[in-house]
Amino acid sequence: MPELPEVETIRRGLEPAMDGARFSKVELRRGDLRWPLPKDFVARLEGKTVTGMGRRAKYLLIDLSSGDVLVMHLGMSGSFHVFGKERQTAPGAYYHERARHKTHDHVVFHMSSGAIVTFNDPRRFGSMKIVPRDKLDSEPLLRDLGPEPLGNEFDAAMLARACAGKKTSLKAALLDQRVVAGLGNIYVCEALHRARLSPKRKASTIADRKGAPNERAVNLVDAIKAVLNEAIKQGGSSLRDHKLTDGELGMFQHNFRVYDREGEKCRTPGCGGTVKRFVQNGRSTFYCPTCQK
Ligand SMILES: [Zn+2]
Repeated sequence: MPELPEVETIRRGLEPAMDGARFSKVELRRGDLRWPLPKDFVARLEGKTVTGMGRRAKYLLIDLSSGDVLVMHLGMSGSFHVFGKERQTAPGAYYHERARHKTHDHVVFHMSSGAIVTFNDPRRFGSMKIVPRDKLDSEPLLRDLGPEPLGNEFDAAMLARACAGKKTSLKAALLDQRVVAGLGNIYVCEALHRARLSPKRKASTIADRKGAPNERAVNLVDAIKAVLNEAIKQGGSSLRDHKLTDGELGMFQHNFRVYDREGEKCRTPGCGGTVKRFVQNGRSTFYCPTCQK
């Protein structure tokens, strides 16, 4: 599933085609993605102008001149393709099938910019919803999300408060979108490695008894921000070798220190350890038992 850096890359990739442009025509090729699309979906988009493009956690938020917001999530296999006058791009197309097929182009936006934006989703775990801007705070998809990890409010004190007293592992806590929003398996593994903290460690151990942050919380927050910023700079991570020629694929996978590196040498200078993999809460965890304690 795309995580925060991938979704942010997609947002940036869609901006030139969509921001400031009007939806001239919207084609819905089926009535549902993960959930049914609203019956008035097309009517609430056509003729409206995009006034801003934001992101909250792994959701894309497209502000419309009508006061509505188009809320989109890519799910497991969703990808956008932009067909412009000069070239075709696939911003952040990290997960699409090798043989991407037009039958999976479920939603097509024709923009007044001349660009055609298609949403392709073979497994249909993606979602689209239209929410009035003034109802966004109470929107069930968004209201329980924790802080944005790159925002100023996310700091050691906040993370320690959220983890204090938690009996779960540190990794499980970081994957909990109510603790911090937008992280998934890859960036949690990477951040824990940079902070030299074991994914098995109890979440509560980054706080003291009163819930105040210790040095581990400070290091962890620094590591989370650093890994996300670096990944965004490189256009996110691409997990399969797509032979696309549009130059839009993320490159951060080459900088993974532990993720998907089972049996390889730890990249912490002077460590000499070997990256191990184990299954934690049903998902692969990659870490170095030598330098992550
Ligand atoms: Zn190591």
